[in-house]
Amino acid sequence: MFSAIFKAIFGTKSQRDVKKMLPLVRRINDIEIQYQQLTDEQLQAKTVEFKNRLAAGETLDDLMCEAFAVVKNACRRMCGKEFEVCGQMLKWDMIPFDVQIMGGIALHRGAIAEMATGEGKTLVATMPLYLNALSGRNCQLVTVNDYLARRDSSWMGVIFRFLGLTVGCLQNMQMPDERREQYNCDITYGTNSEFGFDYLRDMGMASDADQLVQRDHFYAIIDEIDSILIDEARTPLIISGPVPMSKDQFSELKPLVADLYSRQNLLCSRLVREARAVLDKENISDAEFEEAITKLLQVKFGMPTHRQLLHAFENGEILREVDRLDSKVHSDNNRGLLQEVQSILYFTIDEKTHEADLTELGRRTISPDDPEGFIIPDLLGELHKIEVNETLSAAEKIEAKEKFQEFFSDKSERLHDLSQLLKAYCLFEKDVNYVVMDRKVMIVDEHTGRLMPGRRFSDGLHQALEAKEGVPVEAETQTMATITIQNYFRMYDKLAGMTGTAETEAAEFHQIYKLDVVVIPTNRPCIRKDDSDSIFKTKREKFNAILDDIQERYDAGQPVLLGTISVDDSEKLSRMLKIRNIPHNVLNAKNHQREAEIVAHAGQVRAVTVATNMAGRGTDIKLGPGVAELGGLHVIGSSRHDSRRIDRQLRGRCSRQGDPGSSKFYVSLEDDLMRLFGGDRIVKIFDRFGLKEGDELQHPWLDHSIETAQKRVEQQHFSIRKRTLDFDDVMNKQREIVYALRKDALLSDKPHDVLFGIIDQVVENSVNDAVNASAAKKEDSRFDREALAAALNAVFPLEFTAGELTAGITNDRLTDPRALEIQIIDRIENAYRERNAGMPDEQLAYLQRHTILEALDRLWQEHLYAMDHLRSSMSLRVYAQKDPLIEYKNEAFGIFKNMMDQVYMDVAKNLFRLTITRIESFEELLNSMPQEMVHQTLEQFGGSLPDNAPAEVAEEPVMNITFHRETPKVGRNDSCPCGSGKKYKKCCGKE
Ligand code: ADP
Ligand code: MG
Repeated sequence: MFSAIFKAIFGTKSQRDVKKMLPLVRRINDIEIQYQQLTDEQLQAKTVEFKNRLAAGETLDDLMCEAFAVVKNACRRMCGKEFEVCGQMLKWDMIPFDVQIMGGIALHRGAIAEMATGEGKTLVATMPLYLNALSGRNCQLVTVNDYLARRDSSWMGVIFRFLGLTVGCLQNMQMPDERREQYNCDITYGTNSEFGFDYLRDMGMASDADQLVQRDHFYAIIDEIDSILIDEARTPLIISGPVPMSKDQFSELKPLVADLYSRQNLLCSRLVREARAVLDKENISDAEFEEAITKLLQVKFGMPTHRQLLHAFENGEILREVDRLDSKVHSDNNRGLLQEVQSILYFTIDEKTHEADLTELGRRTISPDDPEGFIIPDLLGELHKIEVNETLSAAEKIEAKEKFQEFFSDKSERLHDLSQLLKAYCLFEKDVNYVVMDRKVMIVDEHTGRLMPGRRFSDGLHQALEAKEGVPVEAETQTMATITIQNYFRMYDKLAGMTGTAETEAAEFHQIYKLDVVVIPTNRPCIRKDDSDSIFKTKREKFNAILDDIQERYDAGQPVLLGTISVDDSEKLSRMLKIRNIPHNVLNAKNHQREAEIVAHAGQVRAVTVATNMAGRGTDIKLGPGVAELGGLHVIGSSRHDSRRIDRQLRGRCSRQGDPGSSKFYVSLEDDLMRLFGGDRIVKIFDRFGLKEGDELQHPWLDHSIETAQKRVEQQHFSIRKRTLDFDDVMNKQREIVYALRKDALLSDKPHDVLFGIIDQVVENSVNDAVNASAAKKEDSRFDREALAAALNAVFPLEFTAGELTAGITNDRLTDPRALEIQIIDRIENAYRERNAGMPDEQLAYLQRHTILEALDRLWQEHLYAMDHLRSSMSLRVYAQKDPLIEYKNEAFGIFKNMMDQVYMDVAKNLFRLTITRIESFEELLNSMPQEMVHQTLEQFGGSLPDNAPAEVAEEPVMNITFHRETPKVGRNDSCPCGSGKKYKKCCGKE
């Protein structure tokens, strides 16, 4: 209440932000008027002048107004000139409007500018890009696809080049040299995956400084930021290579699952039939009724999308009764009941959480001889049994444990594959979630409806689909480098974004990226008419109503853009349009090349365009002659999308720049959204008013109910994204440590010091171990030099003897460990110099860098593999009522620390072992391995938390593995801390 009054008086935050920008806009416009007097050369000279002023201490903010005015003035000078952009001649006709200047200010300040479609965001970005690129650092513009990167960089490049800046553009097939050139430009356009993968390749794989392509993470503007940071953010970027050992059990399991599936299908059909026969009778007893409802519930557990079941659910009372029973069997004091109800099924499927599980019956059916074959054995219990078994010797115990571990991982893998196959059969529909082309399973992006060639579902699901479809099952791959889009973009010094629809997700942008949303007013008022939704009982009726709507507009000549949420719907509607003889274009996964052209023509008289929701985003729909008089473009949504934002995007496709236009959504109770999250309120209304087939319901407050359903889904998706990020945060810290060391090894001009920094650490650890071991000996607390010498000899082939370890030891006690360490390190360092004496500096540096990289890369990749497994095993722990995230953090920390210790140790061992030829042959091998880049989809972290899981509070282990010491220890050549003024090694550190 209070905030409503507050807003009425002071305006919303955005309105206030905008108001504050007005004086700046006026100033920019005034300066621009002065610039109109300059010659071209004088205007161009401004770029150099600005750079000099920056060098002299002025800031980008100081320069903002002048720089923006320069861009505006350059636009004015380009007007009327023609340029070739992506094979087409275009005439420049744009000078930034005031609202565009405001958008530019918001972007420079690192905010998200929300500006409606058609407001000219492409041009808006030029002002902050120009300004920030004056710093000499690489500024980047992130686009939705390769085509837009090409188009926008070449179109806006007109201005940048005129002003003396260089512009580059990343494209999918570019080779590293070409990519480096793009990054070396002042401004680089490209898609988020190109930027992200370049980073991963640079940090994870480049083995020479001159292989790096990126030079900066300074300032990025993300176009359509919501679709990149929200829609794509559920899924990390991954570079992977083949797994050498993977064992594929899909072909063996497939016939079993196919058999189970068809049995369950028959069973479910029978159950629905029987239930309906009873329910259709008059005067049935309570017991009969309850039995029928139970059967329907069984089908819901066993095959939630069963056609006849959905048909039965059209009756609101039945749906309610089944839901009631569902909650009852799930309530805590009815555990037994749930098992009983599910006992006749072969497996159960949870449509919301995407989990598939075998039942007892299922297990006995596929493995009659060994029903235990599909149960995960109790790992800890078994290990404990071995541990306490007194008949085994210590060595036998270790062997027995290893054997059991192997048996265990074999079995869990088998079960995992089986569960993925069940999902593939029950939850993934061909031509909706994926298509089969050229004997490959290709993912259909759930948001854009486009095919995503090269992308694979993670975690064995893709192989399961391949097995299901009978196409070749491709080898499992292993992660070589991975990062989420979120964490990639969080590395930038400054991030900004633009989109037509950010407001509904403003809270998330703020929470995760610290980005504020500034809503910029439109240049001309928007006069679009948004109709209330029409709601129908069945999809069929809904489709007919849509067709009638299109027919009417088509007859009148008004263009229509029909948005659907799946390729399947697009095709259905297209067939129906054909029957009615309405010519139309279909944009979906199968013909996206021509997408942009078709969308550009969607505003012509009588144009009918069918598109999955986001197809052709970034292309502007201009109205053809005479169309405004017909009411402009009419947008129809064939269903509500899961997310309100995507619906807003669809509506936003019409009424650009003050054009007329209208929009309307059609909904049916059979839509997934309504089925899963709609609740039964609307069903009740249908019943109460006795609405029948073909009847239509329309009322503004119904729109509200639908929005509530959408909000529920959005919330669920938000948690998945948040969780992906929580899990990746753990990885992120590890990645930072590893990449920092890697970068140091690769780029430092003193690789020798980096290398001996590691040796120093290893020696220190050895000395520490020896101290601890000596202290632990009760009878004799003298420092054990023999033990230390032996430990050192296990790593360095230098034949240390106890007798030579003298520094820092007085009366057989170690009084100055650092002195001893230095004595040892000196010995190692001298031996190392001797061994490599005569080697040219450049070669030696190469050898030193690779001594580190070899160990680091090898172990880090093994570590990533271990982390993959750790993560997927987490979903099992949900059942144990533990929070998988906390478990994951703890275990991940342990494995990482071990890995880093191992890296140091291996570097030390490599010190005298590696030779240049060995490194080179190893690298050849690496380069010959095929790599694949995946922007993975689907929740992979065991979905959501159990409802009663503890909130996240547990202590997080501190990541205290630093490569560089916080406070430097006394170096051998440093002046001695005793104050003598002498070098340490000549004074207290003297041997
Ligand atoms: P958005 O990305 O905001 O949807 P675009 O950048 O694709 O919009 O631009 C939409 C259309 O508006 C383009 O055809 C562009 O040429 C035009 N446009 C943008 N800014 C101006 C301007 N200042 N004056 C005239 N036309 C403009
Ligand atoms: Mg755009």
